[in-house]
Amino acid sequence: MRLGAQMSAAGGLHEAFKRGHEADCDSMLVFTKSNRQWNAKPITAEDVEKVRQAAADYPQIDPVAVHASYLINVASPDETLWEKSYQALKDEVERAAAYALPLLTFHPGSHMEGDATTGLNHIGRALNRLLAETAVSAPGVTICLEVMAGQGTNLGYMFEHLAALLDSAGRSERLGVCFDTCHVFAAGYDLRSPTAYAQTLAEFDQVVGLDWIKCFHLNDSQHELGSRKDRHTHIGDGYIGLEGFAHFVNDPRWAEHPAHLETPKTEKDADGQEVDMDVENLARLRRLIEK
Ligand SMILES: [Zn+2]
Repeated sequence: MRLGAQMSAAGGLHEAFKRGHEADCDSMLVFTKSNRQWNAKPITAEDVEKVRQAAADYPQIDPVAVHASYLINVASPDETLWEKSYQALKDEVERAAAYALPLLTFHPGSHMEGDATTGLNHIGRALNRLLAETAVSAPGVTICLEVMAGQGTNLGYMFEHLAALLDSAGRSERLGVCFDTCHVFAAGYDLRSPTAYAQTLAEFDQVVGLDWIKCFHLNDSQHELGSRKDRHTHIGDGYIGLEGFAHFVNDPRWAEHPAHLETPKTEKDADGQEVDMDVENLARLRRLIEK
């Protein structure tokens, strides 16, 4: 796997490359704007040039994937919020394209006071419009639906939801799936033993198709199998455990797939010193690789 982590873009997206290099990332995940705000400053030619230069300076960090804002909810039954979400999602895809970044992952959404079927229909409507409206502006960006934990009214926690969404958009090759280990586990799909891992992936293959997985989020889970709670923790410290992650990093099918940590950034050690947990979690993952 091309292991990495979510890296801060504070000070400009180009700064994330330096941080990714320092954390020894083979690839990384970034936000191109604040993940908790709707609006962003438009990207300038200077921004693009700085990122191009940073990518040239750190060619080993490849690919760089983008995560969309957490505010976006194209499953919303509120038409005003839906439109606002749709426009923000389209902007995310076009921002990724402006920076020549190949992957954009977003959370499919929550149906709120609606129901799951209607919510899935709203997401499908967004996908079709997005594919049409970004066909020229962002043809090189693969738009990935993230598997969710199923917290609250979140959709996308059942493999069947993802299959229905891909189907609703005609299985466009511009779409993909981001497989988040914490979310999948919290949604009720076991990953811990070799048998459980094989069964979960076989089920994904049957329902969705393994070829649709374009990237991974590697997070351990603070809560138990099927808890439907979305709380990430350090690799090996949660309910998935090290063995679960060993299956992923040793599976030849994922050898070239980007896989990113979204775990807490720092912890204090016994002496009260701050430890860079991305470095620690990446080391834990790499130790699991069988030579
Ligand atoms: Zn994730």
